[in-house]
Formats: sequence, structure tokens, C-alpha cells
Amino acid sequence: MCDCCKAEGRNSQFICGDGPLKMAHLYKVYMGRTASVKLCRLCDIELFKTGESRFLQRNIKFAQYLYTSKAPSSSLFD
Ligand SMILES: [Zn+2]
Repeated sequence: MCDCCKAEGRNSQFICGDGPLKMAHLYKVYMGRTASVKLCRLCDIELFKTGESRFLQRNIKFAQYLYTSKAPSSSLFD
């Protein structure tokens, strides 16, 4: 399931069908670290269109999820 839709409480399967998820990298979230997330097609397009900062502003629960997942052991990070 799409990490962003999951955090935002959206049903990405309902919105996007069973399309493949795309790995996306968020570069500005944390200093010197890259967050790797799985995004559905709609979120991927929104990220591309709005850019990382605005994407996180528009999906504030996803931003909070990233923030609480920043432990070094988290699988989100490369
Ligand atoms: Zn999504």
C-alpha cells in the first residue's frame, strides 16, 4: 500500500486500483539522509507536480509519519 495514502487514511487501492507502487526518494525531509517511500500513481504524480516541500505540506499526516519514523533502525532510510 502507498505509504502516503496509508498515513493519510486514504484507500489507495480504491483510488488507484492495483497499479504498481513506485519507489520515491525524499531528499529534503532530513539533513543528509534520503527517505525511500512507496507511492501510488496519484501520490507520485502529486509529488512530481508540487515538489517535495508542498507535497509534505499537503499531506501533513504523512510528514508526521516520516518524522516519527526517522529512527536509525527504520527501513525507510537507505
Ligand atoms: Zn498514495
